[in-house]
Amino acid sequence: MQKGKINVQTENIFPIIKKFLYSDHEIFLRELISNAVDATQKLKALAQMGNFKEDLGDLTIDVVIDKDNKTLTIKDRGIGMTADEVDKYINQIAFSGAEEFVKKYKGKTEKDAAQLIGHFGLGFYSSFMVSKKVEIFTKTYKKGPGSKAVKWDCDGSPEYNLSETERSSRGTDIVLYIADDSLEFLDEQRILGLLKKYCKFLPVPIRFGTEKKWDKVEGEKDEKGNDKYNETEVPRIINNINPAWKRKPADLSDEDYKEFYRELYPSLFEDPLFNIHLNVDYPFNLTGILYFPKVKRNFEVQKEKIQLYSNQVFVTDSVEGIVPDFLTLMHGVLDSPDIPLNVSRSYLQSDANVKKISNHIMKKVSDKLEDIFKNNREEFEKKWDDIRIFIEYGIISEPKFYERAEKYCLLKDSDSKYLTFTEYKESIKALQTDKDNKLVYLYTTDTVEQHSYIEAAKTRGYNVLIMDGPIDNHFVNTLEQKFENASFVRVDADVIDKLIKKEDALPSKLSEEEQGKIKTVFGEIVSNENFTIIFESLSETDLPVQITRPEFMRRMKDMSALGGMSYMGNLPNSYNLVVNSNHPLISKINNSESDDSKKELAKQLFDLARLSQNLLKGEELTGFIKRSISIIEN
Ligand code: ADP
Repeated sequence: MQKGKINVQTENIFPIIKKFLYSDHEIFLRELISNAVDATQKLKALAQMGNFKEDLGDLTIDVVIDKDNKTLTIKDRGIGMTADEVDKYINQIAFSGAEEFVKKYKGKTEKDAAQLIGHFGLGFYSSFMVSKKVEIFTKTYKKGPGSKAVKWDCDGSPEYNLSETERSSRGTDIVLYIADDSLEFLDEQRILGLLKKYCKFLPVPIRFGTEKKWDKVEGEKDEKGNDKYNETEVPRIINNINPAWKRKPADLSDEDYKEFYRELYPSLFEDPLFNIHLNVDYPFNLTGILYFPKVKRNFEVQKEKIQLYSNQVFVTDSVEGIVPDFLTLMHGVLDSPDIPLNVSRSYLQSDANVKKISNHIMKKVSDKLEDIFKNNREEFEKKWDDIRIFIEYGIISEPKFYERAEKYCLLKDSDSKYLTFTEYKESIKALQTDKDNKLVYLYTTDTVEQHSYIEAAKTRGYNVLIMDGPIDNHFVNTLEQKFENASFVRVDADVIDKLIKKEDALPSKLSEEEQGKIKTVFGEIVSNENFTIIFESLSETDLPVQITRPEFMRRMKDMSALGGMSYMGNLPNSYNLVVNSNHPLISKINNSESDDSKKELAKQLFDLARLSQNLLKGEELTGFIKRSISIIEN
């Protein structure tokens, strides 16, 4: 029996490990199972190379809870360790790693410290976060002297015991005597949850407890005539050892990808729109499958996220900094041993390797989109309403993505036609170029509320784009900056003939004096609102009175409502009340006998205009209806 002190320099690191990794105690299980998987994979590799000729047998890793003895055991049938190896790997290397960790820890926050853990090989020693004592029983795969089974134990002080023990089978058992403040780790559901979280796709089967299985009994029916099933308890295997992202795309069908999506997100019912299989080995190693999910229009906070793995071990589902922001809305898995997992977020964002990975992912996603666009435009158009949020978000936030996406980004018009930027420009060029040679893009944010304006534009042969998505305010701004010589105006921003200024206005039938009088009449009616009264010489067949919302002020208001400019406070709505000085009804106001009848006519026209903008409500609407009825009766 060998007794020893693990290290003389640090008196006692265990309390430090325990205290400072407070928030992440559960990762001990991931660390220990990763070690068991490594030991198993090493043995398989040796067998493959012909250096291990015996039968490998069942390599399943077992996780066992013993409530009576308050232990949690992880058993593997991997390469095992000799006494010398235990001394070297556990007492010296692993320990100095742990010690180094403690030194580096000083001055760091708890969160950063937790991220350092893997980096410094605290792996095995993380078991002391939850244990008052740990035992290792291990027997190497090697034959000959020095290959006897050994037992190591340590109770959390720097002293350990190392002795020979009886054990016939190859491999390692790690026995944790769970500390009184960590008894949750003796709870089956808690351990099951952790195994499902961290080990779902590990490459070696992991067995924990049992589960019920139902087998159909051939040829037998129950009293009701239903098929009969036999219920049996079978060992529960936690993981899928061959997850889809590790397989070759050529071996996978569409259904396989969907099936894997359901495996990743059992709580989602909707199939994804399509997927992208990533497989890179140079200059970094990255595999994975990304899915375009069906996103709800209202952009709800997403619970399901991209999961990040390192050699099939789950690491995190916060991938900010690793994938471009706009792609964090995607689903799926990324697996890379090259992403430094043990460092802080801010470091990650400045890491050159991570930048390359991020750019690569963006390129792959873009290639896939372009590919569908080129080879199956019909399908692309069908999916457009669902994927546009990703593409618009990408265009707004990543100049590099814009350069790629400008080829296939589509614009949808009010006839539900989908055109690329170039196609669209061509199609509106003839009619929608104004007299300053600017191309004017008309758009609507609400096809129902702005219906009359859309119709007015269409009767003049203009085209109207639909921009009713949650981030379309920003999208319109971005396009206006990116497109040369372009302006975007909402269909209700001005009277239609002024939206695209072509020729000078018609002469006005009203003198300035007459206009002044009419303005006074309208002024009294609209005095309480945010209306500016302006006169336009439109055609006699245009509406007598219209309400428009000037583009600039409306955009400012929309943007401030989105929260981007709270310093502007709550901007009021501002409208223009456009009076058509050439309309006969406007002259009629002037020619009316009494002030009352002037006012009544103006009021009726104003209310009609408000009605078409959905601005007439409540008491005023009721009044309008009453007045209209009496007008019809007369
Ligand atoms: P790391 O896994 O990062 O190297 P650990 O502290 O987790 O650090 O483990 C230290 C070493 O102990 C491992 O590198 C390995 O050589 C050995 N080891 C740990 N667990 C096992 C095991 N289950 N079977 C065989 N060797 C093991």
